[in-house]
Amino acid sequence: MAGEPQDDCLFCKIVAGSIPATIVRETETTVAFRDINPQAPTHILVIPKAHYENAAALAAGAPELAADVLRETRAVAEEEKLESYRTVFNTGSGAGQTVWHAHAHVLGGRGLEWPPG
Ligand code: 5GP
Ligand code: ZN
Repeated sequence: MAGEPQDDCLFCKIVAGSIPATIVRETETTVAFRDINPQAPTHILVIPKAHYENAAALAAGAPELAADVLRETRAVAEEEKLESYRTVFNTGSGAGQTVWHAHAHVLGGRGLEWPPG
């Protein structure tokens, strides 16, 4: 069912604490942790605790939770003292999505080209 934890989901395991992560913020509905393979000096992932397969499913199924995630990207950027940063939701394998639990990347601490590759 939408939102229920999935046994085979890496990020559900991080939410459950059954695999470790460097958690930087947690709220009732979200967790933010450092990406294991950072692409910038700051590279943090913000996820809903509930399982939705990507940002599209999250926006359709739980828009208030999508807003929580977005609010947390701002909080993370503020904590990391990022004046400029990029928030990215890769949606679908063609866009580079590799983990099928919705997540926002918060990238900053270096110049970021636009448009991205
Ligand atoms: P995607 O490619 O789906 O947009 O992003 C998935 C992100 O999750 C990647 O940036 C990848 O480095 C990160 N990632 C994958 N496995 C783990 C893990 O076990 N721990 C953490 N902290 N990040 C992970
Ligand atoms: Zn999940």
